[in-house]
Amino acid sequence: MLIGVPKEIKNHEYRIGMVPASVQELTSRGHQVVVETNGGAGIGFSDDDYRAAGASIAATAEEIFAAADMIVKVKEPQAVERKMLRPGQLLFTYLHLAPDPEQTDDLQASQATCIAYETVTSPNGGLPLLAPMSEVAGRMSIQAGAACLEKSKLGRGMLLGGVPGVEPAKVVIIGGGVVGSNAARMAIGLGARVVILDRNIDVLRRLVAEFGTSVETVYSSKAALEEHVLSADLVIGGVLIPGAAAPKLVTKEMVAQMKPGAAVVDVAIDQGGCFATSHPTTHQEPTYIVDDVVHYCVANMPGAVARTSTLALNNATLPYIVALADLGWEEALRRDPHLANGLNVHAGNITSEEVATALGREY
Ligand code: NAD
Repeated sequence: MLIGVPKEIKNHEYRIGMVPASVQELTSRGHQVVVETNGGAGIGFSDDDYRAAGASIAATAEEIFAAADMIVKVKEPQAVERKMLRPGQLLFTYLHLAPDPEQTDDLQASQATCIAYETVTSPNGGLPLLAPMSEVAGRMSIQAGAACLEKSKLGRGMLLGGVPGVEPAKVVIIGGGVVGSNAARMAIGLGARVVILDRNIDVLRRLVAEFGTSVETVYSSKAALEEHVLSADLVIGGVLIPGAAAPKLVTKEMVAQMKPGAAVVDVAIDQGGCFATSHPTTHQEPTYIVDDVVHYCVANMPGAVARTSTLALNNATLPYIVALADLGWEEALRRDPHLANGLNVHAGNITSEEVATALGREY
């Protein structure tokens, strides 16, 4: 199969669909890979690195879209890329179609076969191609939150771990899933006092098994949430209700009663956020202040650590890329119903019930 990897064109997007090591896996199995020039340059992978892995380099995205049987990307195709998709071509990338009717129209019109990373499932009910980005965002949330507590960001001027004789910061993590447990790992490592709230007792059990007495687990009742948020120095929002907007668990009134200079990092902002005072921000201007509380609400946190994120994403996507290339998409999806859950659009039709329902379209 001829696999094409164009350079990402979204603003400040430095990730790339395949790193040289992934390319080598494909070329060693007899596939051809063509990568757009400078596609990995922003994260330290040169054209020569790709050539050494057996890829050829194309000068333009047009050449790649014209030739490839399968396109592997990171972000959803932009309008100019959607115009280049061809009938029967396979697209494997994040799509997030539910809130995006325009993109869905274009993908249907292209007659391409589009498999979305975010709807591929795993036998244990997880989302294996979303999890790496939640791991990154969860770990990053503590770095970002620690910076927010500094005076230059209008924070309390507090070091997360304290020093001998000075108490550490209290970090409250709402949601103990992938984001929450990774945030906890970092906060514990820095020496903070860590409290995690979740509504799922099994999640709390798992956290205790993982972190022992380094964390305090709390059932997320309204009263408990209020008590811990009001006494926190840093609150991390990592809740998810699959397929729904994030619940606004922290009200405006609660934020107004938080300590002056406390910080919130609302990782769930990509689903609307779990603080009533949250609105999406960018890496250029990541924070704003409401009632003396520093808010960090960047919707694409993993983009800031594009090298780590690309490598983590590739570790998760590579087995699926190999299966699609070796078997062709029809056989690969027939053999793996979890990969089949990734099929969102095929030959002009929406093939995901969730996407069709969200858009009020035919399925
Ligand atoms: P997850 O499903 O692994 O974990 C979510 C947790 O929230 C679950 O344990 C669930 O029980 C818990 N929860 C649900 N309702 C709750 C409540 N009322 N109180 C306390 N806990 C509650 O999800 P995840 O992978 O950790 O993702 C969390 C959020 O982070 C998602 O919205 C995801 O889209 C987002 N995310 C954002 C970025 C970013 O760049 N901003 C990156 C990755 C993920």
